[in-house]
Amino acid sequence: MEKILKQLPQKAREKMTENRKFFAKLKKRPPKNLDYVMQELHEEEFERTDCLDCANCCKTTGPLFTNADIERIAKSFKQKPQVFIDSYLKIDEDNDYVLQQLPCPFLGADNYCSIYDVRPKACREFPHTDRKKFQQIAHLTMKNVAICPAAFNIVEAMKERLPQK
Ligand code: SF4
Ligand code: SF4
Repeated sequence: MEKILKQLPQKAREKMTENRKFFAKLKKRPPKNLDYVMQELHEEEFERTDCLDCANCCKTTGPLFTNADIERIAKSFKQKPQVFIDSYLKIDEDNDYVLQQLPCPFLGADNYCSIYDVRPKACREFPHTDRKKFQQIAHLTMKNVAICPAAFNIVEAMKERLPQK
């Protein structure tokens, strides 16, 4: 996995133009079975890929924290939300709460998440490859293929399953 992660940004750069064209066409005319195909590709990929071998999203990117995330996680620490914010979060250029530092402080050396049951919604949903109307998050996906080897593989499989002319 280490080698895969090291090569991923370069591989993603090489696919950027092809992916941009693919998603532009997909957006114009999304196939009727897109949600179904994405669900299938997502499940197939995550049968092969074990996030515990990777944790690259937790190490390099980190999630946005919604107010509901902050309240839920702070409660699990028996803290006031503001105490949690002051300890771990900052506001980014888009005015969202994000981690003060990476890798995520809740990631263990064994790649387990110490707040797994209450983790942010964005962590639960990353890399968003099973979400409905996948074509709407093309821009985000093109960034995620450089971070997440599973997202990279899913987009490659997508291009084979749903070729755009
Ligand atoms: S979601 Fe992607 S980047 Fe995150 S741990 Fe799993 S395979 Fe790695
Ligand atoms: S909260 Fe957990 S799942 Fe989310 S980035 Fe941190 S370690 Fe990863």
